[in-house]
Amino acid sequence: MDYASILQEIQQESNGFPTKGNVTLTIPELAKVSPNKFGIHLTTIEGGDFGIGDSNEKFSIQSISKALTVALAFSFLDEKIWERVGVEPSGTAFNSLIQLEHEKGIPRNPFINAGAIVIADMLVSCLKNPKDDFLAYIRLISGSPTIEYNLDVAQSEKDTRFRNAALANFLKSFGNIENDVDVVLDFYFHQCSIEMTCNELAHSFYFFANEGKTKEGKQILTKSQVKRLNALMQTCGFYDESGEFTYKVGLPGKSGIGGGIVALFPKVFVVATWSPKLNRKGNSELGMHALELLTNKTGMSIF
Ligand code: GLN
Repeated sequence: MDYASILQEIQQESNGFPTKGNVTLTIPELAKVSPNKFGIHLTTIEGGDFGIGDSNEKFSIQSISKALTVALAFSFLDEKIWERVGVEPSGTAFNSLIQLEHEKGIPRNPFINAGAIVIADMLVSCLKNPKDDFLAYIRLISGSPTIEYNLDVAQSEKDTRFRNAALANFLKSFGNIENDVDVVLDFYFHQCSIEMTCNELAHSFYFFANEGKTKEGKQILTKSQVKRLNALMQTCGFYDESGEFTYKVGLPGKSGIGGGIVALFPKVFVVATWSPKLNRKGNSELGMHALELLTNKTGMSIF
């Protein structure tokens, strides 16, 4: 497969794509990012690397980090995770509070904010130095020792934390947060503030496409655990647009409001896109379009 030419075609065809959205306005620090950035990096399990556009520029991975925190929590707690977080699509926005009351503080899945905050609480309990240990884990799975938190972004999220603070306090009232709410939120804001390039992001998700093993050969999760998390990304990775992403792209993936998307075809490739203009559901407009072009052109969708 000539991925280099295909990425070029996608870049050309995406140039004229009419975007209607804008960069996220919910986190002031992220509202400063140039809306016209666009990059793609595709890494094959065989070892090929193909990048285009701004694929080597760092951006805020935001909710994409939720797939990595759940992977780490899964390696500590295995199926016990699902006693505190569900595995069903929510059909609601990523920051919605609405289902929590009916479901007695058990979030629908680990990719909506409520679920990710519960996962963050699990990691605060399991890790000795949660923020340092999580960063070390990210550096290990990506093979990139220079990945960092962006402390300005973490602070900006803290300054505007009201909805996430409401979620965390509400969860705590149901007994589904073990630690101090502020400590859990601090961890959550830091995980969201991690910066990566498309290249680093694609490598970080390599183990999801490689039966649990990183590019460097480290077994991060079992084959069956990775199958389960890929299934969750497929059904819940794009919140109330998970159906649309499955329908158009047909790959498991995860998005973030920094404009990044990572998606993968098990045993074949991982691809990361970055374009900061978001649609109404908080997913990158151009990123979704580019991935739809990719699976159409390559014929490589899991469906
Ligand atoms: N940090 C963001 C928040 O908590 C993450 C949301 C996202 O990327 N969808 O609201």
